[in-house]
Amino acid sequence: MREKCGIFATASENAAKKAYYALIALQHRGQESAGISVWRHRIRTVAGLGLVQDVFREPALARLKSNLAIAHVRYSTSGSLNETQPLETECCGKRIAVVHNGTLTNFGPLREEYKKRGISFKHSVDSEILGISFLWHLRETGDEFEAMRAVFDEVKGAYSVAFLFDGKVLVARDPVGFRPLSYGTGDGHYFASEDSALRPFVEEIRDVEPGEVFLLDGGSVESRVLVKERGHTCVFEYIYFARPDSRIDGVNVYSARVRMGIELARESPADADVVIAVPDSGRAAALGFSTESGIPYAEGLIKNRYIGRTFITPGQFNRELKVSLKLSPVMDVVKGKRVILVDDSIVRGTTMRRIVAMLRKAGTREVHVRIASPPIRYPCYMGIDIPTRHELIAAFGSVEKVREAIGADSLAYLSVEGLKRAVGREDLCLACLTGEYPEWAFRF
Ligand code: SF4
Repeated sequence: MREKCGIFATASENAAKKAYYALIALQHRGQESAGISVWRHRIRTVAGLGLVQDVFREPALARLKSNLAIAHVRYSTSGSLNETQPLETECCGKRIAVVHNGTLTNFGPLREEYKKRGISFKHSVDSEILGISFLWHLRETGDEFEAMRAVFDEVKGAYSVAFLFDGKVLVARDPVGFRPLSYGTGDGHYFASEDSALRPFVEEIRDVEPGEVFLLDGGSVESRVLVKERGHTCVFEYIYFARPDSRIDGVNVYSARVRMGIELARESPADADVVIAVPDSGRAAALGFSTESGIPYAEGLIKNRYIGRTFITPGQFNRELKVSLKLSPVMDVVKGKRVILVDDSIVRGTTMRRIVAMLRKAGTREVHVRIASPPIRYPCYMGIDIPTRHELIAAFGSVEKVREAIGADSLAYLSVEGLKRAVGREDLCLACLTGEYPEWAFRF
């Protein structure tokens, strides 16, 4: 599972340089392309494939002098250059740059609708329709907030988005708040997918509310909550995607993960000598499990941090090879022991099967797998790259079948109720776990 994007926007001095550092802090949300657009009499964009530090060199940043910037990191399946963001497009005689985190559910029909109105699209990616719809309604209404109200009405799905146009920046979070978005103030105004990316620059931080729109125009900033629906923040931001030091809608991600481990230990205890984590994704939940169960926590698997980028090609062979090169067991911790192995989730099961086999080879006596989220059974249409149902190991089989497939002595998942208690929120999207998709995203 991969998050598709991270976004940033600012109205402050040296905007491009701050965007660069914020993108590095958001790199975990997308590693395949990065880009920054600034306003200097017109939109100027530098973007390319690769990590932030590969795309931007000092001369490129120096060319982007401005007090207004929007920026983006992306994970894309196509990898084609014209899919990088910020993407620039045109409508109604105006040009706009767009950065978007999420996926739109009615992109296809809307695109056809706008084509019938004579609009030509420059990109294949869904994000373009956000800019087109905004400019179309801006011409109709002559007011940025009214135009954005019309976008909320028209465009469904998940979007935390920022536009750069006419020397202004507009930032918005969709009315159910699928994707996180934070706002910070200090020597200027700052927005980012996660507040941890803002901390170096700001004194005050808060969440952008679902349905809230900010307009940065000259030195002024104005915000309005235009629409409010029942909230549906993606629960996988808490389980896996977001940085542990981020706070999403008032809940610290690390603390939520520790509580997931505590709930899991209460629901599914096991007799064992040691609790270990799949690094780094299972670590906070493993600590919670250990605290609640009283079974000591130890680092039983060590991660090679430098292997990652060598093997980015999708495909079974690469995934399997990657696991054995990436992780290795600490023999003193696992040999001859009954081990509780904690991870955040199981998607295809390939990685977990390899890890269990690796622990057995290292002489582990028993391997009890505990997963700090419920089984993933359904695809995501709101911006997360979840494989098709037939690739999800839990989609059709029982927990026992999954246990057999991964070769563990026992397997247990956190319940949906336990997960909600751990996050401390009811207003969550749980669709890939329950199959109940938020109605707003499909109201078209
Ligand atoms: S379906 Fe799952 S991954 Fe997608 S937004 Fe909802 S909770 Fe997140």
